[in-house]
Amino acid sequence: MKKDKITIAIDGFSSCGKSTLAKALASELGYIFIDTGAMYRAVALYCFKQGWITKEGIDESSVVNNLDKITLHFERNLENSKLEIFLNNINVEKEIRTLEVSQLVSKIASIKLVRSKLVFEQQKMGKNGGVVMDGRDIGSVVFPNAELKLFVTASPEIRVERRYKELLLTDPTISKESIKANLEERDYLDTTRSESPLIQTQDAIILDNSNLTPDEQLYLALEIVNERL
Ligand code: C5P
Repeated sequence: MKKDKITIAIDGFSSCGKSTLAKALASELGYIFIDTGAMYRAVALYCFKQGWITKEGIDESSVVNNLDKITLHFERNLENSKLEIFLNNINVEKEIRTLEVSQLVSKIASIKLVRSKLVFEQQKMGKNGGVVMDGRDIGSVVFPNAELKLFVTASPEIRVERRYKELLLTDPTISKESIKANLEERDYLDTTRSESPLIQTQDAIILDNSNLTPDEQLYLALEIVNERL
């Protein structure tokens, strides 16, 4: 039987427009949008502030033994109606988007117990369907039975360019080289880790948005969604 409200899983590499698409789709369909990358980023920020992770290394046992001290939730910002992430009841939506956090997050995301905590919470948030969730393991681990799985991709040059424009708004000193290096490192860590690496599942539909505007990408995705509904 076809459902009124399905689960849409969106996976793909860093900075390829997953969240832009997921947000727009959720708003068109009246679904909830969940940015799971924000959850891993918030955990990385917490661990960084505690001194458990630096560019040099990671104190994995402190991270794992203190996971119960980390609470995450999303709240809607009434000014722009976006869902923003709260770490232990403090809004960290801006703080988690810095290059510094980007340089640490994939190391945190490779820890098994971090993943099981966040996957459990993601499954709880999406259990009633009507959700668009984006990340790296949504179609493979979080919702393997999702009615629709999209694997979003774009050329490396375009991904660097997009992230550069985004970060330049808050950091005028940012360089394209540092962004390129970060995207390459995260792609490598995310695809080669032993715990739920980023993969394209066999039942996922590939959406290459290198030459698409956000509106064109949305239009294409809505056509696919309407076939499934
Ligand atoms: O999506 P975003 O780029 O904000 O994600 C930040 C990082 O969080 C990724 O590079 C990846 O290491 C991790 N992540 C993950 N699984 C997810 C979402 C994000 O491992 N479902």
